[in-house]
Amino acid sequence: MVGILIALGGNALQRAGGSGSWDEALLQMRAAVSVLARVAAQGHELVLTHGNGPQVGVLLRQNELGSREVPALPLDVLGAETQGQVGYLIQTELTPALRRAGVDRSVLTVISRTEVARDDPAFQHPTKPVGRYYHEDEARILRKQHGWAMQFDGARGGWRRLVPSPRPVRWIEGPAVRQLLESGLGATWIPVVAGGGGIPVVRRPDGGFDGVEAVIDKDLGSAVVARELGLDTLAIVTDVPGVAVGFGKRSERWLADVSLEELERHQANGEFAPGSMAPKVEAGVDFLRGGGRRLVICDIPSLARALDDEAGTRVTVR
Ligand code: ADP
Ligand code: MG
Repeated sequence: MVGILIALGGNALQRAGGSGSWDEALLQMRAAVSVLARVAAQGHELVLTHGNGPQVGVLLRQNELGSREVPALPLDVLGAETQGQVGYLIQTELTPALRRAGVDRSVLTVISRTEVARDDPAFQHPTKPVGRYYHEDEARILRKQHGWAMQFDGARGGWRRLVPSPRPVRWIEGPAVRQLLESGLGATWIPVVAGGGGIPVVRRPDGGFDGVEAVIDKDLGSAVVARELGLDTLAIVTDVPGVAVGFGKRSERWLADVSLEELERHQANGEFAPGSMAPKVEAGVDFLRGGGRRLVICDIPSLARALDDEAGTRVTVR
């Protein structure tokens, strides 16, 4: 049985410019799950991860608006909330889609923590923008009040909060899910794990873990999951049909079947934008260098064909 990790990008699941209502999220998910059901019908062992950027953005805004009456919750708790939210959304829509496809499998969401190093240099250099855009005077107050790092985004004409994005080291619930799959339960269950890359935690001296005010890149977190579970395919699903060199330029060329060495060459040449395509390629390279067999990067409509080697960008290590 081929084991596939499908990492669903926030942008593949949520149309930009929508109202953000729950009904809309259900509709959008309904459109996405039929292709997942089709892949599940082929009998592959399947594990899902997902992004949570838009959902965390909403919770941060709710925190902000409600903080005069209810205390704002820390970022790690928001991460846990979004894992529950998106997991529930996938459970709601994927289960009936599996039935329609004649697949006797159900969906299980696992609240997942990802360990990061307390001394990860990212904690000194926050790089990941979260939440809404602020005016300059608001940004000045927030920086003073909370000690937030803020960055000006020229294109959007506003300031955003930056949080650290440390490297995922270990998926804490991984061994439990691995046992579940090894005992054959992968034939009847599809686990949804490590949403948003996992809740970032650091180890305490007493062996416990504390959540930290940071976010983990969902693609890098997904590579940790795929390796931990020994899956042979990492499929990263986003809102573009694959990986391009010369992206957005006249020379733009979409990669189809490429070698790991060629992908690494383009990576070294800076072809992939930080924060969007670069972490996907980095996650894919980590996965393949760590023993993974196949990397697929594609969009939702082309997922089934990409897994059949007919669409998307594919890197297969032979
Ligand atoms: P996701 O929510 O799926 O993680 P991202 O926005 O983080 O989505 O990443 C996908 C985006 O990466 C695409 O919409 C595209 O604009 C951008 N991108 C940057 N460089 C490239 C490239 N070389 N090839 C393809 N897409 C690229
Ligand atoms: Mg992304």
